[in-house]
Amino acid sequence: APQSYDVVVVGSGGAGLAAAIQACDEGARVLIVEKMSTIGGNTIKASVGMNAAETRYQKLKGISDSKELFYQESLKGGQFKNNTVLLKTFVETAPQAVEWLADHGIELSDITITGGMSIDRTHRPADCSAVGGFLISGLVKNLNKRNIDVMLDTSVTEIRYENGAVSGVELLNDENEALTVLAKSVIVATGGFSANSEMVVNYRPDLEGFVTTNHQGATGGGIAILQKIGAGTVDMGEIQIHPTVEQGTSYLISESIRGGGAILVSQAGKRFFNEMETRDKVSAQIIALPEKFAYVVFDEQVRTKNKAADEYIARGFVISAPSPRELAAKLDMDHHALLATLESFNVAVEKQNDEEFGRKTALRQPIHEGPFYAIRIAPGVHHTMGGVTINTETSVLDGQQQVIKGAYAAGEVVGGIHGGNRIGGNAVADIIIFGILAGRSAASYALR
Ligand code: ADP
Repeated sequence: APQSYDVVVVGSGGAGLAAAIQACDEGARVLIVEKMSTIGGNTIKASVGMNAAETRYQKLKGISDSKELFYQESLKGGQFKNNTVLLKTFVETAPQAVEWLADHGIELSDITITGGMSIDRTHRPADCSAVGGFLISGLVKNLNKRNIDVMLDTSVTEIRYENGAVSGVELLNDENEALTVLAKSVIVATGGFSANSEMVVNYRPDLEGFVTTNHQGATGGGIAILQKIGAGTVDMGEIQIHPTVEQGTSYLISESIRGGGAILVSQAGKRFFNEMETRDKVSAQIIALPEKFAYVVFDEQVRTKNKAADEYIARGFVISAPSPRELAAKLDMDHHALLATLESFNVAVEKQNDEEFGRKTALRQPIHEGPFYAIRIAPGVHHTMGGVTINTETSVLDGQQQVIKGAYAAGEVVGGIHGGNRIGGNAVADIIIFGILAGRSAASYALR
């Protein structure tokens, strides 16, 4: 007889793990199925942090923020295309999700900022390290404590659907055997499709030839599986390119470097845009440069406040020099231009007024303490905002906006929340917020 569980979770990124833990704590017997050989999905690569407004950690640091402002800035960043009902749930529930993590031993107590936000609301580990690895290792500890079953190297190929409701999944396991697992609830948390270049180019021919920052499991299979049982989709052409990607390795250079005070400089040695604008706008400006790449430039002060910078140095991405003049020489850049650029940026910091480019945030300190650093970057495919349609309980909706009984989805596989452009720090918030909700909804449906 086939195995049976109350809830099957497809995908072991942040959304899937949060959902599994929550469903287990609601009393459900839970199985996680992951097609790759490791846990963590693309979430493990998340760098900057988790956005939330009106949190305990903001209050501790004296940061005054409002959910309303967070909502407005996410909507503006998303080019006003966001599903406003889901976005309301997102903003309202974000502080609880930060507390949920803390209750599970995953404390995000340091705070920084990302492009398109006006206030420090991006929560990250106390040591300013990347959020992804920290999050996944903390969630895995919670899985282990609960003895939640995980099948690695196993793909869900189909969701079973009988008599008007989901009844389980069909799997292909690590030995290529087809298996059936019965379950009343299935949570699809399979992530986005940035690593499926055919699918990306199908929706966006202009993205032909772009590298991607995503892990190779980000192929969008979960969307097709849900479509087969009638799921609707939304915003499939809304695909984000991230402005700062090291092209040789497709490695993402975190927004936390700019958030810590770095600038973007062209080959001509000049700033060319407000570095703290949203990802869509910054990417467009880099592509518009004659050379189609730029440098993230920072100094020793920025490096010491960002763990990620040391990682980039270790990986060999960073060109460094004791002075701006020597840095320019190494970059084959006009040193007069670079010196003038740094000088006028430092004046903007001093006056807290960037007259030239209108940067309003992360004017933290002048760039003047050697060594000086540069990383050559260009945009890469980073996030797919589109995906399946859900309601605020994470139930998957069909093309007529009707609930598909027993089908739940959370995380990047879902469309609508981020509209036309996802703000940095909103993906980690999304996966935790909606992962918890999915775990709760799926368990209560299965155990009703
Ligand atoms: P999110 O950020 O939404 O949690 P991630 O990309 O971090 O998404 O994680 C999604 C996970 O789902 C990845 O580890 C991916 O390998 C896995 N996955 C994708 N499709 C399938 C599938 N058909 N069966 C099992 N696992 C899948």
